[in-house]
Amino acid sequence: MTPLLPTPKHYLYNLITMTSPQAKKLWRRAVKEHFNCTCVYCGNPYEINQLTLDHVKPKCNGGETITKNMVPACRRCNQEKGSRHWRDWMRDTFGYKPYREEQILSHIN
Ligand SMILES: [Zn+2]
Repeated sequence: MTPLLPTPKHYLYNLITMTSPQAKKLWRRAVKEHFNCTCVYCGNPYEINQLTLDHVKPKCNGGETITKNMVPACRRCNQEKGSRHWRDWMRDTFGYKPYREEQILSHIN
């Protein structure tokens, strides 16, 4: 398992890798592995390369590209969520899923 660090830069600071693109690659992998390569929104498992990383708080609302704001999402969920609040969108789309909501909450807080 790739260690899960707060930002891509931490992979450089900790000398896990020497280049910025490699740091980003490791970071993306670590976030996905942390959630067992499952989309946090629909709950389905995917191949690691089929998953995207979603900004829980959208970039356009000031969401940062840091581990605490990033979760693995399938392309469909990522696209459909868009810039809506994750919980509103999730409840409208999948109903109330306490386990999945808790998983996201504990990651972002
Ligand atoms: Zn999904």
